[in-house]
Amino acid sequence: MGCAPSIHSADSPAPRRGGPEAEVAPRDAGLEPRGLEEMVCGVQFGPMKFHPDPLQVLLVFAKDDVQCSSFCRACEWLGFRHSVVKEVQASLGCFRDHHHDIVIIDHRDPKKLDAEALCRSIRTEELSENTVIVSVVRRSSTEETSALPLIAAGFTRRFVEDPSPMACYNELLQLQYGEVRSQLKLRACNSVFAALERSQEAVEITSEDHVIQYANPAFKSTMGYQSGDLLGKEVPAQEKEGTLLGKEWQGTYSIKKKNGDSVQRNMKIVPVVGQGGKIRHYVSIIRVCNDNNKAEKHTECLPLKAHTDQLSGGHRDRRKASLDIRTVASRATEVSAQRRHSSMARIHSMTIEAPITKVMNILSAAQANSPLPVVEALGRVLDILRTTELYSPHFMPKDDDPHANDLVGGLVADGLRRLSGNEYVLAAKPLHTVPSLSIPVSLKDIPPSVARALEAEDSWDFNIFQLEAATHHRPLVYLGLKIFSRFGVCKFLKCPEATLRTWLQTIEAHYHASNPYHNSTHAADVLQATAYFLHKDRVKQTLDRADEVAALLAAAVHDVDHPGRTNSFLCNAGSELAILYNDTAVLENHHAALAFQLTAADAHSDIFRNVDRSEYRTLRQSIIDMVLATEMTRHFEHLNKFVNSINKPLAALEDGGGPDAEPGAVLAMLRAPESRALVKRMLVKCADVSNPCRALEQCVEWAARISEEYFAQTEEEKQRELPVVMPVFNRQTCSVPKSQISFIDYFITDMFDAWDTFVGLPNLLQHLDNNFKYWKGLDEKGFRGSRPPPEPPT
Ligand code: AMP
Ligand code: ZN
Repeated sequence: MGCAPSIHSADSPAPRRGGPEAEVAPRDAGLEPRGLEEMVCGVQFGPMKFHPDPLQVLLVFAKDDVQCSSFCRACEWLGFRHSVVKEVQASLGCFRDHHHDIVIIDHRDPKKLDAEALCRSIRTEELSENTVIVSVVRRSSTEETSALPLIAAGFTRRFVEDPSPMACYNELLQLQYGEVRSQLKLRACNSVFAALERSQEAVEITSEDHVIQYANPAFKSTMGYQSGDLLGKEVPAQEKEGTLLGKEWQGTYSIKKKNGDSVQRNMKIVPVVGQGGKIRHYVSIIRVCNDNNKAEKHTECLPLKAHTDQLSGGHRDRRKASLDIRTVASRATEVSAQRRHSSMARIHSMTIEAPITKVMNILSAAQANSPLPVVEALGRVLDILRTTELYSPHFMPKDDDPHANDLVGGLVADGLRRLSGNEYVLAAKPLHTVPSLSIPVSLKDIPPSVARALEAEDSWDFNIFQLEAATHHRPLVYLGLKIFSRFGVCKFLKCPEATLRTWLQTIEAHYHASNPYHNSTHAADVLQATAYFLHKDRVKQTLDRADEVAALLAAAVHDVDHPGRTNSFLCNAGSELAILYNDTAVLENHHAALAFQLTAADAHSDIFRNVDRSEYRTLRQSIIDMVLATEMTRHFEHLNKFVNSINKPLAALEDGGGPDAEPGAVLAMLRAPESRALVKRMLVKCADVSNPCRALEQCVEWAARISEEYFAQTEEEKQRELPVVMPVFNRQTCSVPKSQISFIDYFITDMFDAWDTFVGLPNLLQHLDNNFKYWKGLDEKGFRGSRPPPEPPT
């Protein structure tokens, strides 16, 4: 039988089985849905698409038996070109001529045809790499036998003899769309490599842990290496830096060539996702300058004098960072360092890597080739980053300012300085009870004196103390009803006004009227400030309805059941709450938790009853986040994040963008969930400590109240022999003006500057300025009280 490829019209015996329908192709016999073939005939390989030629099949059968003819018949049905050959030598020659896609070798009678030897010989042919070789074996020989010897000989598959043309047809069909198709795709890679090999751009491919797997000739000549110098080596640490982001990166590197010259090159690093959805390769592309491209040469390929020059420029844009890549020749001496980097690289490819780790890795990588002063400076930066208290300034106590020392220490310390044994007894009221309420009110039947006191509730100069007096120390219910109605809170929560009223009454009843400062008037004051900020254009632009409602509810509950003592006191006293919350944000955790307990404790006060589950989760998470943000130990963290993540990017977008600023970019930035969270925290925090920005009369009253609360705490600490958290708040000796000056200096000025930058609040800053001058004036005159002493009668 000749080897010329032919549609084999066999003079071989007719197939034994298959029935009448097997005489015609299955698709002609109606056994396959029409159009299916068109759907699967084109090969899509990445962005490449191609249509393969009809497949070529070589059938090597010593005897032209039924099995052989059935394969021939199947080839005809499938439109494959096929040749049948009987001898080993002839089949090798035939393969060399045609490089068939599929070779089927009869392996049933080794005496007549040594199938394994033939397969090995075919595999020695260069172009057999993409050929599928099938061994036809006896049915009896497959029982309990491993296919491994066949695989070792170079076979791709084992076909258990089956003379049915349909079985042969199905085998070939599955090969066509399985193994053969994969091989076609691999063959297509040759064209991609041909392109890479001839590309003028220098291309390097590495594994996910930065071992070089491929470098094209342009890459080798750019770097001055011979082939073989690079494969299997790790890339220099600086090049890995470009992979740290886990996404496409472009920047300028200073590359040291093999001969020691440094040149600047623009390099693009592209991560390629592969098996398991993980990054499996990085492709680095360097634009190569040549004499045909002089303009580019001047702008991008300037040789460098020394790498110290690159770092002398002060501010260094990360994306333009010019980093010195070490020579590959020196790599061998740095194997251990690179191992370290290699394991770091595996960490980089983990999707859960924290951003701070990335930052630290980038800095460590930058250290590697920097001059000594830079290495030392980066070392100090890394030391700072390794600590957890990134956002809390390091406060150096000042000998001459005990007010500042005590206030900052007392408010920012995390309360882990505690004694044991002393129990602080919390609120007398048992939790979970809704106290009987004596003043059932609705918006419609508010007493005229209260209505008058509520009139200016939307103005910053609203006087909360008048409302406190008019409501007999129940300002939260009345102000809450008015503000919540203005913001449509009942409508949003789909709850009756009566439920909201009961809720407000319950919350207010759990504020301690006996506290000089942390009572329901403070809650009402914070609610009023929150509502005021929510009405500002910038805030309205940023927050959505759920954010607004959450902020109002958070303000109302943010200090509920406050005992009038600080977190440090509760920790030192070993209070139940401190035990419950592990000395961590004890009060703020309690305020948030109790608020939700009280809400759910009675259906009459459950304002969330009609809110669907996902909306409830959003509101709850947002309220908790805001209440926890009022804890002062994290004051500087919240403030710095706000400035860095909101004010600075906003300024860059608004000022830097100019007329080209992308429309909507500001809105998109502000409305991102992370931005909204930072804005909400800042909003509630500012509302919470806005008393120094109120009109003088109110500012002074708040200062007197908070001082009184601190005095009482100091007295109790002394009486119970607890550590005195803020010794300066001693009723006999304290200077209220000095304490206010310190509070404003350390906590208020920067925060309201930042908040004013975002919202625009000149009236608040004006009050702050006046009030500061007032405290300075009192202090300069040597007064210690919150008000000047009465003039002696003349
Ligand atoms: P909060 O307990 O949520 O009201 O948190 C605000 C913190 O700031 C509390 O520790 C208050 O004691 C403190 N604070 C508020 N206003 C003043 C003020 N005028 N002087 C000193 N401390 C204040
Ligand atoms: Zn508060």
